[in-house]
Amino acid sequence: MIRTTDGGWPQRLRRWFGDTNEVDIDEFVVPVKRINAMESSWRALDDNALDEAVGDLRRQAKAGSPPDEWTQEVFAAVRELARRTIGLRPFDEQIAAGLALTSGAVVEMPTGEGKTLAAVAPVAAAALAGGGVHVLTFNDYLARRDAAWMGPIYGALGLSVGVVQEDTAVADRQLAYDCDITYLTAKEAGFDCLRSFLCLEPERLLRRGAEVALVDEADSILIDEARIPLVIAGAIEGEESTARQAAIVVRQLREGIDFDTDEYGHNIFFTETGSTRVEVLLGCGNLYNSDNLGLLADLRNAIHALCLVERDRDYIVREGRVELVDDFTGRVAENRQWPDGLQAAIEAKESLELRDEGSILGSITMHHFLRTYPRLCGMTATATPSAEELRDFYDLRVVSVPPHRPCVRVDHDDVVFTHRDAKWMGLVDEISRVRETGRPVLVGTASVAESEELAAMLEEAGVPGRVLNAKNDELEAGIIAEAGAPGAVTISTNMAGRGTDIKLGGADERERDRVVELGGLYVIGTNRHESLRIDRQLRGRAGRQGDPGSSRFFISLEDPLIGRYGVEKLIGARALPKRQNDPVDSPLLGYEIARAQRIMEGEAFDIRRRLWEFSAVVESQRTALQERRQRVLSGEERPDFLQRCRPERWREVVDLLDRERADEIERWLTLVVTDRCWSDHLAELARVRDGIHVVSYVGKDPASEFCREAAVAYSDLQETIEEEILAVFDDLEIGPTGVDWEALSLVGPSSTWTYQVSDTPFGGNTMRGLANRTGAAAIGAAAAAPFLFVWGLVLHWKRRRLKAEMAKRDDA
Ligand code: ADP
Ligand code: MG
Repeated sequence: MIRTTDGGWPQRLRRWFGDTNEVDIDEFVVPVKRINAMESSWRALDDNALDEAVGDLRRQAKAGSPPDEWTQEVFAAVRELARRTIGLRPFDEQIAAGLALTSGAVVEMPTGEGKTLAAVAPVAAAALAGGGVHVLTFNDYLARRDAAWMGPIYGALGLSVGVVQEDTAVADRQLAYDCDITYLTAKEAGFDCLRSFLCLEPERLLRRGAEVALVDEADSILIDEARIPLVIAGAIEGEESTARQAAIVVRQLREGIDFDTDEYGHNIFFTETGSTRVEVLLGCGNLYNSDNLGLLADLRNAIHALCLVERDRDYIVREGRVELVDDFTGRVAENRQWPDGLQAAIEAKESLELRDEGSILGSITMHHFLRTYPRLCGMTATATPSAEELRDFYDLRVVSVPPHRPCVRVDHDDVVFTHRDAKWMGLVDEISRVRETGRPVLVGTASVAESEELAAMLEEAGVPGRVLNAKNDELEAGIIAEAGAPGAVTISTNMAGRGTDIKLGGADERERDRVVELGGLYVIGTNRHESLRIDRQLRGRAGRQGDPGSSRFFISLEDPLIGRYGVEKLIGARALPKRQNDPVDSPLLGYEIARAQRIMEGEAFDIRRRLWEFSAVVESQRTALQERRQRVLSGEERPDFLQRCRPERWREVVDLLDRERADEIERWLTLVVTDRCWSDHLAELARVRDGIHVVSYVGKDPASEFCREAAVAYSDLQETIEEEILAVFDDLEIGPTGVDWEALSLVGPSSTWTYQVSDTPFGGNTMRGLANRTGAAAIGAAAAAPFLFVWGLVLHWKRRRLKAEMAKRDDA
């Protein structure tokens, strides 16, 4: 028996696609029908027979028969297993979406349609084929949630599922990566990729590369985050450097859970949870060990700087420096510093330059990282507005899948005010009015600060609302899930709670009908975003799965988006409406605002393209160097530099050691020196890039100038690596048992840390809008510790050589 949900989806699909994507329809209609046809036979199996049938499928996949032969069968199996294990039977639309994912597309499917479940069949099929699958989620909470939610289906297929979180310890990370399927954020996957680039022993490789990456909330990760470089840095010398590390770590701690302050707010104590968390994040062993005293002090300073000292109250930041504000006068005190490490901690908190900030060991943009996966696919509620970009940057096409039930949400025109205060008044009036009826309201703002401002105003008007403050994803998910409850007023930034389903009526299903009668969820946006896609994402919060709902934006001519363009310029000063408290009724204005948004979008796209040109150069160099390094690491390639060293030196070494150990030294030196020189190269390129915009004054193109300079630097790099290896080898003290690494009592700090930075090659002005720093993340990477140790040695030799040379010069 063929079970189709309503038989009508191909027609709706056709309607949805219009004429442009007609190919896609033909592509998925037939396979979905075939999968539907298999359903009854899977349904008829009892549990034992089902297990056996799954076993047959596994064997077929393992035997290496072409995926085309068994993929549809996997989809049919997943449909039945999903029904039996988690009680959800994937709809035809979800099957179609899954097939599109398998074909390597970005699937657009409205919010609440069940993308999490739709992803299971393609992920399972890819995992059965072998090679590993990474499901890249929007945040740690969703990685946890989705792995646990979908886990039973994978389990029934005999597939193992692992989860990596920001604070997952190294050993557990390795286990999670060894699973058939790993759920984690794109950021964590990227950082681990950087860590693995620094690995010195094949068996310590943190991360098995996966064949396939499926990116959830794909627009946010593939486009919005694409340009942001992921960075891994390490400190080898200088004690101050832990200040920055500490600042990064404490940003991830939670007051009241990880640490407490005393009643006067003068002192800080770590809780049990807190010290364990710090130990995991820094990989520093017992925090209260005597070796960690300095680190502990820095951590305390960092929390102090973060929680007890306030910018613009206690100090200001001017010209890249922290300047103290005098308690009594409220003015800046010249030449005054905070005691001990607090100054450094505050500099670190403000991301200002410290005297020693460690060195960048490696970096990769999200875009290039994602392209390291042999196969990439993604899903999101909003992809079509970015279809061109996805095609250009990732070779991904967009497949739009219609909702299971038609969307009946009403998207109202914008309400436009002349000035900010009028807009706020209008918002408060509207929210109070709607709340009185009991209809739930979800307000999307541009920032946490704006959310809090609005909440305060509503409070004053007697309308209590819940604010999402971007402090904890799991708590936020809990709040946003209840945004559909009767009378709920929820205020959040656009991105908050992404991935969480908003059910009408909230958790209490009996309330659903009442909310439906009131018109469903009412979404209000307080700003137009620079990107139309983000606005659509917000609207999509209402009207899930055919629910009623509506959306509306309240904007003012003083909003940043409009202000930036100067409305006068767009519509002419004479057409500008007079300042008034009531909304303006002018279709022309609405049209011009939409135009401003389109211009902004185009500009942002251009900026991303420029940035991509820059990073592509560095990336191709990194890939080339990295490929060679990985071959040396795995033993596939023998570095042959020692043939070029002084023959007597080589004989000396081989006499002392056997050939095998001599080779081992050669391999280690190659890896370490390559990494060290690459790090220097990155610093050099950063310097070039930061200064390159000046060439535009003489009519040259910065990007092509940069390419030229980078190419020169790269060929220098190859030479430097050779020279350096030979020099270090020449100088190396080798005893009968090999290099006595321990005897050279030089130990670098045992950790590296990772963070994201904003990328602004042309300087702040042209790159406007890119300047906002993204949250930093840190973790102790025990895997990189030996690397730093040896790197410390390399530096040591360098210094010694320098000293020796200077001594020679002095003698002469
Ligand atoms: P999306 O990621 O597309 O926004 P989710 O995966 O979070 O959506 O799922 C939204 C809701 O839809 C969840 O509550 C889920 O239980 C429900 N759902 C998903 N698939 C089905 C299905 N086939 N039948 C019934 N409910 C489903
Ligand atoms: Mg989702």
